[in-house]
Amino acid sequence: MNGKNMKSILTRTGMALLILISALAATQADAEDNFVFWPEADYDPAIPTFKDVLGYKPGERITWHGDAVRYFEALGKAAPDRISVMPYAESWEGRELIYAVVSSARNMARINEIKANMQQLADPRKTSKAKAQEIIENQPAITWLSYGVHGNEISSTEAAMLTAYHLLASRGDKRVADIMRDTVVVIDPMQNPDGRDRFIHHFEMAEGLAPDSDRISAEHNEPWPGGRTNHYLFDMNRDWFIMTQPETQGRVKILQEWYPVSFVDAHEMGSDSTYYFAPEAVPFNPHLAADQRSSLTLFGKNNARWFDTFGIDYFTREVFDAFYPGYGASWPSYFGSIAMTYEQASARGLVVRQYDGNDLSYAYTIRNHFVTSLSTAETTALNRKKFLTDFYNYRASAIDEGEKDSIRSYILPIQADQAAVNKLTGLLVRQGIEVGRADSSFDACGASYPAGTFVINTAQPAKRFIRTLMDVNVPMDENFLAEQERRRAKNLRDEIYDVTAWSLPLMMNVKVDTCYRSISGPFTAAGTDLVQAGTVSGGTGSVAYLVPWGSAPAVRLLVNAMQKGLAVKSSDKAFTHGEVHYPAGTLILDAADNPENMSETITELARQTGADVVSVDNSWVTDGPNFGSYNAVRFNQPKVAIVWDQPTSSYSAGNTRFIVERQFDLPVTAIRASQLINSNLGRYQVLILPESGWGRGYADFLGKKGTANLKDWVKKGGVLIGLGNANRYLADPNIDLLSIRRENAVVETGNGKSAGSVKKNGDKPMEATVKGSNLADAAAYQESITPDKDKPDSVAGVLVRSDVDPDHWLGAGVAPTLNVLVRGSDIYSPIKMDKGVNVAVFRGADDLLASGYIWEQNRKQLAYKPFVVAQRSGKGYVIGFTQDPNVRAYLDGLNIIFMNAILRGSAHARPIR
Ligand SMILES: [Zn+2]
Repeated sequence: MNGKNMKSILTRTGMALLILISALAATQADAEDNFVFWPEADYDPAIPTFKDVLGYKPGERITWHGDAVRYFEALGKAAPDRISVMPYAESWEGRELIYAVVSSARNMARINEIKANMQQLADPRKTSKAKAQEIIENQPAITWLSYGVHGNEISSTEAAMLTAYHLLASRGDKRVADIMRDTVVVIDPMQNPDGRDRFIHHFEMAEGLAPDSDRISAEHNEPWPGGRTNHYLFDMNRDWFIMTQPETQGRVKILQEWYPVSFVDAHEMGSDSTYYFAPEAVPFNPHLAADQRSSLTLFGKNNARWFDTFGIDYFTREVFDAFYPGYGASWPSYFGSIAMTYEQASARGLVVRQYDGNDLSYAYTIRNHFVTSLSTAETTALNRKKFLTDFYNYRASAIDEGEKDSIRSYILPIQADQAAVNKLTGLLVRQGIEVGRADSSFDACGASYPAGTFVINTAQPAKRFIRTLMDVNVPMDENFLAEQERRRAKNLRDEIYDVTAWSLPLMMNVKVDTCYRSISGPFTAAGTDLVQAGTVSGGTGSVAYLVPWGSAPAVRLLVNAMQKGLAVKSSDKAFTHGEVHYPAGTLILDAADNPENMSETITELARQTGADVVSVDNSWVTDGPNFGSYNAVRFNQPKVAIVWDQPTSSYSAGNTRFIVERQFDLPVTAIRASQLINSNLGRYQVLILPESGWGRGYADFLGKKGTANLKDWVKKGGVLIGLGNANRYLADPNIDLLSIRRENAVVETGNGKSAGSVKKNGDKPMEATVKGSNLADAAAYQESITPDKDKPDSVAGVLVRSDVDPDHWLGAGVAPTLNVLVRGSDIYSPIKMDKGVNVAVFRGADDLLASGYIWEQNRKQLAYKPFVVAQRSGKGYVIGFTQDPNVRAYLDGLNIIFMNAILRGSAHARPIR
């Protein structure tokens, strides 16, 4: 859930709650001591309750990760014939992620066969229709219930525990018997244990004598960074197809072992709402099958039936679309599941007062997720045969589509950044996509490709996911877009929930060819490795080792070489040695500057980082600067700091730190913004300002003193890197660390010509009346009510092309064109040549958009505006990235220019060393 759609929910809530009041009066009173989670349940005392194991009843406390695991282990001990609990991942902070498999003893006794059957149904090339029907006859369908991917959305973990308890302990309940017989229920009780325990820690610290329902009380206000995200502050509900985090990697792996036919991701939303479940909002991803959409209604209707029985209010359809494939509620759809998000209004503690005065208790929120969990398993059981058949048909029809499609194969030619190709193919294979590596050369669609070229034929069960991830564009429904334009014209908020572009080849800057025919092998199946070991080639290396720049492995090699004390320098310009052309930024490790055993170290570094290294036995360069040229700068292992805590955006701070530390092995010191005001930053060569979370952000937070401290540090040789809206601070005329300026919206006049930026009234005295006017027609009326916007409209997220200046060191080894994710409303004027360099500039309006849906005005205004600017200041630099290059750590194509800013920035700065 994000906050942007809360307004529409709020208006409904008032009415909805009136209806609920009588029902609530009873249930809320019960919450005081004996909340009824399931009326008239008869439970087997041999199965341990919450209270038996943890000492409290559900809803009385918020359960820590360790205690939830303990409870599931207790259930496992009490009913080993019907539940098995297994680990699937470990969080960054060392917490174990577990899942529980629950079913009848009969099903559990043949659980491996059930898993194997799903693998057979998943591949119609190996399993005939007749065989599939035979399997389905005697096969339970798997229900997958996932809880708490956002750690501060707390109620779902207790609901998971109650669901498991209820399934194991209920006696004489036909519904439970049906579920246990016809489905296997997989429960992932806590997808984000680090975030959850962070939330509980802060909550318990703020608790007093009694639970406080006041939303302004400390227990309802999480300090930065909040519990939503994991350790590196990722929103893991966006991470599914890029799998940067260990928690996601583990889930993706086990899901493909089980292939559930239904999947629920249980969330919480704002406290004043009710409950949301399927069917989801438009737009629907056009690559999915029609029955996946119609089946959503089966789940929704069954949930509604139970909510009517309990007197619980809910809504469907209005928000939460599944267009973006990186949600929990969308990713499983692409292997053929029916994936859904459920959202409960959050108590964000043990009780919260809603705007109408009702106290929403934690127990009540747990109960609602518990009811929909059982209802979902029931729907799966009742529709067992249909869902299994739909699953098989989804996979079979995907192959059929792939055999007829206009795109029948994707070919990844051998290219300069082959490491990016390796990573892309590894990512695809991890998600169940079959990728082949050609054993010999082949011709296809008018081109020749050498052995080693990767090929993806679309005639395979994962075809729809291949199109979704590999295509330049996934089109949004025309009617939906027309409605968004209509809303925008009325100054209503658009309903686009997340980015509209995510093409993996564009984001990773990998060249892809498409072909209208499939490519026949021989192929070797590509594996799941994201990095292939690098090698050292060439002569003895008696003079130097060269590492061509421009790929992630070369950056890792540089960082690790410096950490091992090797001396590395680099040419800012391209050169030719022998017959070989080396790109700008190529690393040079001179034998003369380094220890005698360097060759062993280099061989090991190449293997470990994936970088390919060339050894040379002479220094003679046939074109371009020599190794000893003034164009070759020496690297200094930089100490890097990032601003942490308020006022930064936790996503930007955490995800940036993740990239630098975990993808490039360079440690980053996190410094709370308050420390920047007075501290001596002289120990650091680089300071990163992530995006700011709110308002004037850094300017207000740092004040004059902090800004003066930063300026002084830059002048003495520091490299200050601003990301995204941190440039509002750097470019603020009162701060003036960077000589770009943020632009107002361009105002279009009636004749279509730009009237320039909005002029503010300044200090002119206010008039009591305004000039009269005749509004002759509807257009004039429309113009008269159109506000004088002071900033451009906000863009949900599009990929936009940006050209790189090859003459600047920031562009060394960087691809000539980058695809940048543009979000929000920030557009900056270019820097003047006497002040600095526009190192990367957005393309002209007609050639700007690479993928996604952009407002016309933004498309025009973004043209030729800077993406990356560098400005010298004293002995240091200020570098601005006007859009955050590190969003979700999924814009690999921007890694080199960002790491250039850190590594080459500090090499080019001139502090007193
Ligand atoms: Zn959520």
